[in-house]
Amino acid sequence: MLSNIRIVLVQTFHPGNIGATARAMKTMGLSELLLVNPRAFPDDEATRMAAGATDVLENARCVSSLEEAVSDCVQVVGASARLRSLPLPHFDEPDDMAQQVIENAAQAPAALVFGRERSGLTNDEIRCCTHQVSIPANPEYGILNLSQAVQILAYEVHRAWRKRDDSHFMYQRPLEATPPSREQFVHFQEHLGRLMQQSGFLTQPHARTEEQLQALFSRAQPSRKELSLLRGLLSAFEAHLPGQ
Ligand code: SAH
Repeated sequence: MLSNIRIVLVQTFHPGNIGATARAMKTMGLSELLLVNPRAFPDDEATRMAAGATDVLENARCVSSLEEAVSDCVQVVGASARLRSLPLPHFDEPDDMAQQVIENAAQAPAALVFGRERSGLTNDEIRCCTHQVSIPANPEYGILNLSQAVQILAYEVHRAWRKRDDSHFMYQRPLEATPPSREQFVHFQEHLGRLMQQSGFLTQPHARTEEQLQALFSRAQPSRKELSLLRGLLSAFEAHLPGQ
């Protein structure tokens, strides 16, 4: 279950933070580290800060986009100190997040995503997420060091894992009742976007209509079965477009 939970760091500037993240992860039983375009990796400073967790560093994978890092995940939780205007489901309490992630990770990969030291995650990157989480902190200064934010969320995940009710996990949800992977969800969004264009529904290019509807479907958190019903609905509409 813990091996299904990956930590994703986006464009980390200081390699020391990557090493400290590896250590934070290993202390909490996590081992899957993905790095999206790190500035410097591998790096001596990362190795030094990892202390006894160099195995986590050695197994870390580098990828070139966040989308690539999470496409097979059924839950993608973006950690951010500040609330953005994006209307994604938000966990105000990390323990609520951890419980849900542990449940999902019983069946499929899930990810916790952390942003750059200086600028956090971009809005486009947050759009790759299914949820957001914030660590409640001092309202006057609530921004943690990157690896310390990883430590706190990894601790919560480990705690939820220790306290899990195994009888609950004996019952495996049927696959169709599980959340779709990000890749399946992105295909749905692309299909919806195409149909909105082709049907003439989108008349004002800058009205953010597409974004708002996509946010609605993100919030609804459809299961695989429900998503495939929606895909079927879109295809049926598509067949009635002029020229099809
Ligand atoms: N100046 C940046 C802060 C980046 S800190 C910003 O305003 O977004 C680096 C990363 O650590 C963040 O992107 C986030 O993933 C994590 N982080 C730091 N403080 C956090 C908090 N209070 N809650 C959740 N994540 C936090």
